[in-house]
Amino acid sequence: MLPYAEARRKVVEAVSTRCPAPRREVVALHRALGRILAGEVRADRDYPPFDRSTRDGFAVRAADLATLPVTLQIIAEIKAGDTFSGEVRAGQCAQIMTGAAVPAGADAVVMIEHTRPSGASVVMERKVAPGENIVPRGSESKAGKILLQPGARLGYAELALLGQVGCADVNVYRRPRVAILSTGDEVVEVGQQPGPFQIRNSNTVSLAAQVELAGGEPVPLPNAPDEATKLRALIERGLEDDILVLSGGVSMGKYDLVETVLRDMGAEFFFDAVAIRPGKPAVFGTCNGKFVFGLPGNPVSTMVTFELFVVPAIDMLNGAAPRPLPFFKAKLAAPVKQKATLTHFLPANVEWSTGEPVVKELPWQGSGDIVALAQANCYLVVPETRLESAAGDWVDVLPRRGVL
Ligand code: AMP
Ligand code: MG
Repeated sequence: MLPYAEARRKVVEAVSTRCPAPRREVVALHRALGRILAGEVRADRDYPPFDRSTRDGFAVRAADLATLPVTLQIIAEIKAGDTFSGEVRAGQCAQIMTGAAVPAGADAVVMIEHTRPSGASVVMERKVAPGENIVPRGSESKAGKILLQPGARLGYAELALLGQVGCADVNVYRRPRVAILSTGDEVVEVGQQPGPFQIRNSNTVSLAAQVELAGGEPVPLPNAPDEATKLRALIERGLEDDILVLSGGVSMGKYDLVETVLRDMGAEFFFDAVAIRPGKPAVFGTCNGKFVFGLPGNPVSTMVTFELFVVPAIDMLNGAAPRPLPFFKAKLAAPVKQKATLTHFLPANVEWSTGEPVVKELPWQGSGDIVALAQANCYLVVPETRLESAAGDWVDVLPRRGVL
């Protein structure tokens, strides 16, 4: 069976060869968090725009401080934002604040802590090197330099940079629309009272949230019954969007119709099983030129397989590079043991109370157990090549997106 890393590669390959050019739109800067930049962003002027003091202190000529102590005459006080057109000459200094422009003549700033007041003068008690405590004009960026390239993901620092250069409206790619179609005769909507053997549609809720977190636009459809004609009609509707994500109906049961219906519609499949638990029956293909994921219906399977396989597709349709899975290593709190030769993604908690990351598997009842997953901040990854690990072993951990 296909290892999950290979299944992911198939997703990346299929999407990269078939990905339409992403469409663009303009959004207000404060709405652009998590979006993907569609055009270059250049520096509108030099940064810093002037020689900037990084300290509260005195702008001096470093050569004046060759022999200490030395008393310098204060010729001005310069606050951040002030315009001062005078010049500091030999034997003089200007009191200056953090963020203010260093005046002509001065080539260093002495921290106030290294001086002593003396009437209209100040006594310098430490030497200073030329350039000390000054960020020269244009040293962060020259005017016109490209600061961000198309495809950049806009996090808070990128937004700050856009703000700095005066970009109040941002040219971004349109988020891919991701249709979400749950299936199953037993499924009722969240606002409904389920019958004794019915369950509420939690998958559409988690999938919509995961689509948002991944940077897509969720389009929830009504639940499809386990009946081919109605299922097909809803699949056709879902295929109007960029990606269709189904939950349920991909296992071996008599009423698991998703693959059959998709096949009848002419779908091409890249995989229909992956060597993981939970999530083994996950399906990925294209149908009518759109990407289709058939995720198993058990809620934890749905969530894990979305993270593994759908996120990179959303990234690429968003105009970005597919992000790698953000694994890190943690020390096992207690031994783990699995039998099936599959890579396991187990609900777990990682904490740093001892200073190093320690991960503990949580008790759970298998892939339907949302109660357990909601207590977990990560998945403990047990590779199929090493199903047994001892306490203290370093293992892979996959953070739960949006929580850790
Ligand atoms: P399936 O993959 O269709 O065989 O479903 C596997 C399990 O997941 C069954 O116990 C279903 O009742 C449950 N399930 C399927 N769809 C949903 C859903 N939308 N929300 C919550 N649980 C679901
Ligand atoms: Mg079902």
